[in-house]
Amino acid sequence: MSRETLCPVCEQGILAPEQDQNPVTYKGITKVLPMRLSVCSCCGSETATTADLRENKRIANEFKKKVDGLLTGCELRHLRTEQWCISQDMASKIFGGGPKAFSKYESDDVVQSEAMDKLLRIAASVPEVLDVLKTMSGIEIMVEKQIVVSAKTSQWSETINDIESTQTTSISSSSHHKEFLYNDTKHWRVREVA
Ligand SMILES: [Zn+2]
Repeated sequence: MSRETLCPVCEQGILAPEQDQNPVTYKGITKVLPMRLSVCSCCGSETATTADLRENKRIANEFKKKVDGLLTGCELRHLRTEQWCISQDMASKIFGGGPKAFSKYESDDVVQSEAMDKLLRIAASVPEVLDVLKTMSGIEIMVEKQIVVSAKTSQWSETINDIESTQTTSISSSSHHKEFLYNDTKHWRVREVA
């Protein structure tokens, strides 16, 4: 999609995207932030389009989050996708904040509250907290927490006994390499990988 739009001042020129450097001060801390704007090729007028304003707000919000010690959108996205392995929708159901909350937090459109930030950080550092929140949300989530690959039968029996002793026999007869998946609600399954 082209960002080219007609200049609202002269209505003849085409707006071209440019980037300026803008010092921003928040709570006594000043940082030069990139600022998007659009400049008319004909009359030279500088305009901030809707897209410019949205992007500038995101950059400003990221700066504010850093100053306030809150998780940035990038940090939260990493946490959700790499550590928790859940969708944005699922995260909203677990943590609250509304159906689009995590989309807005992660794009830095919205600064999460201090309370939400603390909840996210506690869940990040104490895995059991996430489990409790899942239960409170009233939904059962099949999150595979650990993958053990290439285990021989003898090791399988040992490994699985630790998790769910009553189910051991159903897979201990095979000597093939398998991938063992389980979650925190005693559901588990095995599939061939070799
Ligand atoms: Zn113009």
